[in-house]
Amino acid sequence: MNKSENNMSCAEFQAQLPELFGCGEVIGDHPHLQRCNLCRALLADLNAIAEAARDLFPVKEPTDADALWENIESAIAHEGVV
Ligand SMILES: [Zn+2]
Repeated sequence: MNKSENNMSCAEFQAQLPELFGCGEVIGDHPHLQRCNLCRALLADLNAIAEAARDLFPVKEPTDADALWENIESAIAHEGVV
């Protein structure tokens, strides 16, 4: 954890989400979430979508985070959430 993480904007945080998802970190502990209700709500939605995406599009390589994220994005597009 460093200072830039604590002063991160929502856009910066959200830009990092695919990476954070990919490395399997406990994103809920991220400093940005400690002070941002908006991103906490977004993360809750993303977690639900990610769970659904894992069921809908089983990823052959569990470590293939890019593929998982692409599936999440396509799931979001299908749901019309964004
Ligand atoms: Zn935020």
